[in-house]
Amino acid sequence: MSILILGSGQLARMMALASFPLGLQVRAVDVNTLEVVDPISKIVSEQTLTQAIDSAVAISVEFEHIPQDLLEKVNASGKLKPSIEAIMAGADRVKEKRLLSGLDIANCPYQVITHVEQLDAAVELLGEKLIIKASRDGYDGYGQWRLSATSELPALKAQLSSLDLVKVPLVIEKMLHFERELSLVGVRDGKGKVAYYPLAENLHHQGQLSVSVAPAPYVDEKLAEQAKTIFNKLAEELDYVGVLAVEFFQLGEQLLVNEIAPRVHNSGHWTMQGADTCQFENHIRAIAGLPLGSTEVTSPTAMINIVGCNDFSKELLSVAGTHLHWYDKTVRPKRKMGHLNICANSYAGLGEKLQSLTAYLPAQHFPLLEKEANRLICV
Ligand code: ATP
Ligand code: MG
Repeated sequence: MSILILGSGQLARMMALASFPLGLQVRAVDVNTLEVVDPISKIVSEQTLTQAIDSAVAISVEFEHIPQDLLEKVNASGKLKPSIEAIMAGADRVKEKRLLSGLDIANCPYQVITHVEQLDAAVELLGEKLIIKASRDGYDGYGQWRLSATSELPALKAQLSSLDLVKVPLVIEKMLHFERELSLVGVRDGKGKVAYYPLAENLHHQGQLSVSVAPAPYVDEKLAEQAKTIFNKLAEELDYVGVLAVEFFQLGEQLLVNEIAPRVHNSGHWTMQGADTCQFENHIRAIAGLPLGSTEVTSPTAMINIVGCNDFSKELLSVAGTHLHWYDKTVRPKRKMGHLNICANSYAGLGEKLQSLTAYLPAQHFPLLEKEANRLICV
C-alpha cells in the first residue's frame, strides 16, 4: 500500500521512515518538478504523478504552500487528507484569520492591507510596534517585516512597494509581549477520534524555531484544557483528518493563536523519542484509516534544531539520551539540517544534558542552548 505526500523534504522523509514498519510505502512529489520521488533516497520514480495519485490509498502534504493547480488535481482524487480547505487555511493568513475569528478563537489583533499607504491606518489602530506578514508563502520567519517606530515607516513602505499586495495582501499584527510560545500537536482520525500530545514550549531565534521542550513546564490543567478546546473547535470545523498543529502565544492565563499548521510540525519532532507513538506515525495512521497510536509521554524531551550548520562532532551522541535525526541536505544559512532529541527523567536532568551538549554545539549556531540548559536545571 502506498501513501503519497506532496513535498519531498524532511517531513516527507520522516513520515516515510515512520511508515516503513507499518508496511506502508511513502512516495513524495517534488512540487517544483512534479516528479514522483523516494523521500529518503530522493531517487526519481518512473511513475507519473497521475499513476502515483491513482495507486495511493491516501494523499497528504508536508507543507501548506502547494501550487493551487497541483492541490486541485490531487483533491479531485477524493484521497486528500486533511481537506483542501484545511490546507488552504494554513497557507493563507487572511483565510486563517477569518477561520479563527469565525470560531471566536482569540488571536493577535491585526489588519489586512492591500496597499502600502494603508500602513498608516494600521499604525493608528494597532500602534507603532508591528509585525508585517505576507499572507502567503511565508515560513520560518521568511516573508515578514518588523516596524519598531513610526519613523521607520517611509523606509518600510519603500521596501514593500515592489510587492503586489492586491494579489498577496499583508497581514499586519500588533507586536505582542507574550510570556512564551506554546504549541499543541494533535491528531484526529476519520471517525472524529482525537489524541493530543502535551503542550510543547517553543523558543525561537530570529523568527525560526530553535528549541522545543515537551511537556512544557508550568502548564496547569486549565491552560491545557484551553488549548484542547481551541484544537477541537478547529478540527471539528475543518472535519480534520491527520496531525494538526496549533501555535500559541501565552499572555498571563490566556492563549492567543499565532497560526495553525495543517500537517506534522517541527514542534512535534520531540515525539520521535519522547512519546509512545510519534507524530509522523500518527499522521500516517490517521490518513490510512488505521487506529491512532497512544500519545503518552515516555520522558521529558528537548528538541534542538540544527540550523545552517553541519560541522559538529557526532561525539555528542555520547551524551546519554541524545538522538540525531539528519535530513541529508546541502548546508545553507538558516536551513534546517536536522534535529536532536534529548530525553531525560526530569527537567533538571534535561538541563544538565543540554549543558553537556554545549561542548559540542557552537553557540553561534545554537544561541539559546546555554540559557535553556540553565533554565531547565531550575524548573
Ligand atoms: P514558522 O514557519 O516557524 O511557524 P512563520 O514564518 O510561519 O514561522 P510565524 O509563526 O507567524 O511565522 O512567526 C514566526 C515567529 O515570529 C513566531 O513564532 C514568534 O516568535 C514571532 N512572532 C510572530 N508574530 C508575532 C507577534 N504578533 N508578536 C510577537 N512576535 C511574533
Ligand atoms: Mg509559526
